[in-house]
Parts: sequence; structure tokens; C-alpha cells
Amino acid sequence: MSSIHPARLRTHGASEPAKGAFTLYWMSAAVRTQDNDALEFAIERANATGRRLVVLFVLDPSYPEAQKRHFEFLQQGLEDVARGLAERNIKFVVRLGNRADHVVHVAADATEIVTDRTYLRHQRAILDEVVGRTGKQTTEVETAVVVPTHVTSDKREYAARTIRPKIHDHLSEFKELAETATIDKKSRSLSIDGATESDVEEAISRLDDGDAVQTRIRLFTGGQHQARAALDRFIADMLPTYDEKRNKPERGNVSHMSMYLHFGHISPVRVAIEIEASGAPEEMIDSYIEELVVRRELGFNFVEFEPEYDKYSSLPDWAKKTLKDHEDDPREQVYTRSEFERALTHDPYWNAAMIQLRETGYLHNYMRMYWGKKILEWSNTPEYAYRTVLTLNNRHLYDGRDPNSFGNVGWVFGLWDRAWQERDVFGKTRSMTASGLERKADPDEYVRRISETVGLEVRS
Ligand SMILES: Cc1cc2nc3c(=O)[nH]c(=O)nc-3n(C[C@H](O)[C@H](O)[C@H](O)COP(=O)(O)OP(=O)(O)OC[C@H]3O[C@@H](n4cnc5c(N)ncnc54)[C@H](O)[C@@H]3O)c2cc1C
Repeated sequence: MSSIHPARLRTHGASEPAKGAFTLYWMSAAVRTQDNDALEFAIERANATGRRLVVLFVLDPSYPEAQKRHFEFLQQGLEDVARGLAERNIKFVVRLGNRADHVVHVAADATEIVTDRTYLRHQRAILDEVVGRTGKQTTEVETAVVVPTHVTSDKREYAARTIRPKIHDHLSEFKELAETATIDKKSRSLSIDGATESDVEEAISRLDDGDAVQTRIRLFTGGQHQARAALDRFIADMLPTYDEKRNKPERGNVSHMSMYLHFGHISPVRVAIEIEASGAPEEMIDSYIEELVVRRELGFNFVEFEPEYDKYSSLPDWAKKTLKDHEDDPREQVYTRSEFERALTHDPYWNAAMIQLRETGYLHNYMRMYWGKKILEWSNTPEYAYRTVLTLNNRHLYDGRDPNSFGNVGWVFGLWDRAWQERDVFGKTRSMTASGLERKADPDEYVRRISETVGLEVRS
């Protein structure tokens, strides 16, 4: 009997394990050895079948939209994994190249495959290919969300208000961490294709990152230990005032957990448990759980049930119609994607947001909405604006290319929202103005802080 909740498991391929030398855990989205249900499940399976365990990670240099910044953060996580698995006497193999080919190759000697669940189209296609080509029993373990997506809902949800009660119905049942299991048969010195040592550095050193996006200002380091340290700092210093200050971009009173969650360096269940045990005022805890679980898992619901999640066509009909009705409205300013990326607009608040995004790989939540809304306002067409927001979001953010990237970019264009008072260009989608930003926050202080952190003058 597994200690992992059965609703987190889905099995494909053969109904029984095959003959083979080891159980294979193909690590993909959960790059950690702590609080990783997929790893613990794989250990259980290896022990139950009397096999050793091999963990495989494939670094794919042509991974969609990945930049040098993303590979660096991933590498820091993989180094922690290499150490964590060595301490547990488990063999770790890192390969560079085509994901499906490497998994199929290593799985040839495996009895069965365990993997952590992924959601994007290209990730699902590779899982299908691996199952098809190996024919082996393959179990996906859902580790990226607190409540498994199909437990929460069986359809695309309209908005936070419709998914919230469904998530809360199941929250306590799934707020449980996997027990840490011990492997019976050590595999650390097992030879896979002649390699006996973990080869993270070797694989990374062969990665050709070309002239992809670089990080000039390194504010963030990846890995499960850094993730936990960042969470502990946030709980001690900022959670007690989270709800009051989280929408003040000049204060930075936020957790920076999204990048660690995106790379699987921390479990959302762990974050939820630590937040609830923090002793912070209840309204602060509730406010954080609303973001971490309700808002975040609304994004997972969107990619799970919306096949066109990365296309303008996925927006609600009312939003597409009203944006179309206003497509020919005169714009006070129009910029190209390249002008946006170089932060060359007339608005210093917007330019500071673009600089924070581009130079540090992070952008404060409140500024993300302002940044996206202004791209809509200052682009020739809403479709061009949508593509610009999604491209820049995924290229620069550490947490880009996530299920939450697609839903939140859609949110700028009316997804999960209702109709508001009709205005030029925005139609009935919600608008945002510089004066609104000034009423709610201190954007001049934000500009000053970004310019100081990054060492660049913000164009005004
Ligand atoms: C235009 C736009 C683009 C965005 N792009 C992304 C993206 O690419 N990847 C991404 O993970 N998030 C995205 N978000 C959501 C949100 O802005 C970030 O998750 C958040 O700012 C991350 O910073 P934090 O961890 O310090 O947040 P905190 O305020 O500390 O929040 C805690 C956690 O709650 C979750 N969360 C907070 N706000 C949201 C939200 N609006 N939707 C979903 N989850 C949320 C995150 O997991 C976050 O780590 C976007 C929002 C907008 C408006």
C-alpha cells in the first residue's frame, strides 16, 4: 500500500512491471529530493519489486523558450538533487539532448517508469511518446499542485470565485507530505552507459546557450535549499504584513516563491504547511493561501482543460468581441515589441517594470498587470499585444513558461474577469492607469529602487 494519495497517481502503458534491472524515476518538473511525492513513490516501487532505483533528468537544449537564465537556475536545482540523491544512495543520471530519446534509451533496462506530472502540450506529447515507444508501465505522480487538478474540477473554471470552493473542499485532505522512504538496494555506483558518477556539470558544460537572455543582476539562486531559506525569511520578516503590503511594488513584501515552484525546487504543499504553522495573523495566512493555492491552481486548471491555452483564441468570447470592436480606436502611443523590450516607452513606471523583468528575471505582481495592460493599450492590435506580453513574459521571467504564465497573460485580456465600463482601446476589459497606480502605491519610489538595484537609468 503506497503512502502517496491515490488521486495523485495515474498509470499508463503496461498493467504490470516488466523484467528489468531497476525502477526508473524520470525527473522532470519536481527538481528536488525533499517533499517529492514522485521520488518517494519511485522508492516504494523499487523496494516493493526488489529493484534498485535510477533517477534520470534530461537537459534539452532546444526546450521551448528556455534561455540561459532558466538553464542556470535549473542547474542550481540539479546540483542540490545530485547531492540529495547521493546522500540517499540513489543513482542520478543527467543526459543532454532529446528528452524522449534519452528516457526511452535508459528505460530499456527498467521494470517501470515513474515521473512527476507536467501540464504543457509539449510536455504531455513527450510523455505520450515515451509510453508509446517503451510500452512500459508508467506512473505519473502529481506533485506540482496541492489539490490534484482532476479532484478540483472536471472542466475549465470561469474564475477564482468558481474554483475557490472546490479547492477548499479538498484542501485539508491533500495538505499532507509524503513520508521520506529509505531505499533497500543502493544504486549509487550502478553503471548506466559506462557512467557511474552523477554528470550534472558535464551535461551543463556541453549546453550551448548561444546569445540567449543573460542575467546581469543576480538576485536569485535556484535549488531546494535556497527555496527553503527564501521561504523562512519571508515567513519571519514579511508574512505578518503580507496582505497590507503585497500590492506595493516599492516595498517588495512578497515571497518570490513562484520561480522555485516553477522549477519544482519546493513543494506547494510544504509552502502551504509552513505558512499555516507560522503563527502569523490569520488574515495574512488566508491571503497568502488564496494566492498560492486558489489563484495558482486556477492557472493549472486553465492549461489542463483549455487546449488552446497559449493562443488568443482561448480568451472569453465577450473579451474578444469588445477588443475587436475597439481595434481601430486611435492609440496615443504605439510601440513595437522591440521598443517595449528595450524599455523605450514614454512612461517611467512602465519602463522600470520592463527593466526589472529583463534585468533581474522577476517582476512584482502588481506591476505585472500594469505592464501587461499598457502593452495592450500601446499596441496596434490586441492580438499583437497578446503575443508580445506572452513572449516577453516567458523569455525573461524565471517563473515564465509555467501553467500560470498562460492564464495570467490571458487575465490581462479579460480571462477570469467580468466586463467593466467601456473605454477606448480596452473596450469592456479592465483598464489600468498611471494615476490609479499613484493612488494605490508609490511608483516613483519603485522607479528609484529599480534604477538603484539595476544600475540603469529609467527613461522618462
Ligand atoms: C501579466 C501577468 C503575468 C504573470 N506571469 C506569471 C508567470 O509567468 N508565472 C507565474 O508563476 N506567475 C505569473 N503571474 C502571477 C503572479 O504575478 C506571480 O505568481 C507572482 O507575482 C510571483 O511572485 P511571488 O512568488 O513573490 O508572489 P507572492 O505574492 O509571494 O505569492 C505567493 C505565491 O502565490 C502564487 N501567486 C501569486 N499571485 C498569483 C497569481 N496572480 N496567479 C497565480 N498564482 C499567483 C505564486 O505561486 C506565488 O509564488 C503573472 C501575473 C500577471 C498579472
